[in-house]
Amino acid sequence: MSNKGLLIVLSGPSGSGKDTIIEKIFSINKNIEKSVSMTTRKARNNEVDKRDYIFVSEKDFKEIISSNGMLEYTQYCGNYYGTLKRSVDKLMEDGKDVILKIDVNGAKQIKEKCSDSVSIFILPPSIEALSSRLVKRSTETDESLKRRLERAKQEIESSYIYDYVVINDNVDNCVRDICNIINAEKLKSDRMKNIISGVLSQCKNHQ
Ligand code: 5GP
Repeated sequence: MSNKGLLIVLSGPSGSGKDTIIEKIFSINKNIEKSVSMTTRKARNNEVDKRDYIFVSEKDFKEIISSNGMLEYTQYCGNYYGTLKRSVDKLMEDGKDVILKIDVNGAKQIKEKCSDSVSIFILPPSIEALSSRLVKRSTETDESLKRRLERAKQEIESSYIYDYVVINDNVDNCVRDICNIINAEKLKSDRMKNIISGVLSQCKNHQ
C-alpha cells in the first residue's frame, strides 16, 4: 500500500535558481517528476521542446484554455505559461510526487484547487544577487531583464501566501531544506491513511 503522491508548487523570481535546485532534487529523490509546462515564449538556445517546455503558438494555448485543459495558467512578461491537467493527472496516477515550477498567479490557482498541495517560495538572498544571476545567464535583453526584475519585486511581495519560504544563498542548503519539507509533508497523518489502515487490517488477521 503506497503513500499518496504529493503536488509540490515551487516558485521564485526568474533567476532565483529554480532549475538548478530542481535538477538536484531529482538526483536525490527518484520518486519526484517535474510537470513540463506549456508556453508561448520562444525557446532559448539551450532549451529543448517537450523537455524544458512544450512550445506552442498563442492560438493553440488559448484553445487549450477554452477546452478547460489547463490546471492553471498565467501571463508572465508578455507570454502565456500553463500546466496541462492531463500531464499532472497521469504522473499522480502513477504514484509520483509532482513539482510544478510556476509563478505566483499559478500558485494561487493551485492553492484553491488542490488543498492538499504544498507550496514553497525560493527567496534570493538579495535583489543584487538576483540581478547579477540574470545578467550572467545572458538569456535576456535589457528590456526583458528590467521587466523580470520588476516582476521579481511583485513576486517577493506575494511570498507570504506560500506554505514555506526557503532562501537560496547556498544551493545545497536550499535543496536540503526543500527535501526536508517534502519528507515531512509526506509523513503527515492525513497522507498516511492508506498505510495506517493497511497495518490495522494486519492487526485484525492476527487476532
Ligand atoms: P521562464 O521564461 O524564465 O522560463 O519562466 C518565467 C516564469 O514563468 C517563471 O517564474 C516560471 O516559474 C513561470 N512558469 C513556468 N511555467 C509555468 C506554468 O506552467 N504556469 C505558471 N503559472 N508559471 C509558469
